[in-house]
Amino acid sequence: MSQEEKKRSRLGVMGGTFNPIHYGHLVTAEEALFQFKLDKVIFMPSGQPPHKTDREILPPEERYLLTVIATASNPNFVVSRLEIERTGPSYTIDTLRELHEVYGPDIDIFFITGADAVWEILTWKDAANLVELTEFIAATRPGYSLEKFKKLHVLPEGQEKNKPRVSIMEIPALAISSTDIRMRVHENRPISYLVPEGVANYIQKCGFWKD
Ligand code: ATP
Ligand code: MG
Repeated sequence: MSQEEKKRSRLGVMGGTFNPIHYGHLVTAEEALFQFKLDKVIFMPSGQPPHKTDREILPPEERYLLTVIATASNPNFVVSRLEIERTGPSYTIDTLRELHEVYGPDIDIFFITGADAVWEILTWKDAANLVELTEFIAATRPGYSLEKFKKLHVLPEGQEKNKPRVSIMEIPALAISSTDIRMRVHENRPISYLVPEGVANYIQKCGFWKD
């Protein structure tokens, strides 16, 4: 196959704490896969946040395992250990650089986020470099508006070239959050139909967030 004929791969990256993973994450990833014709979506559970010693955040290995359980039946979903195995502080920019190294030059990366997270990412100090490594897919999320994003044509002076490539993706509204799931577990309220069955079972078996 000649160089011209070679198809570029389209790789989705879904970053998150996944503490725990829920149907909001899964619907977002599946919809991005379909709407943006991605070849696969890599779920990237974050490492242990350096400044958070919060007991509520499960060890990376447990969050990774829950993510594997949740995605096991989907042939287009994979889970990466890249961030959970990194020692020291972990930055998305390093992750994207590593993925470009691993997959080579014929890859386009789409970083998938919810409407809340896209704002955080674009205010990171290395956002300007991030822009060259990835496009962004910002999914609608109940409670967070993307309206102001649509009007974002003008960036502050001197930053025009750093304008991120962001596509807005409408997804069926799912007002599910990991915070709510942890609270539900803590209060003995149901989490079935908010997370995959295997995830609910594993949480129950291990007794996470009970006390
Ligand atoms: P927490 O409540 O602990 O912050 P979370 O539900 O926000 O958890 P994260 O792991 O923080 O989950 O999110 C990972 C990514 O998934 C983020 O980009 C977030 O915006 C997105 N996301 C999470 N829940 C939804 C949802 N219900 N709809 C759309 N996107 C979502
Ligand atoms: Mg969150």
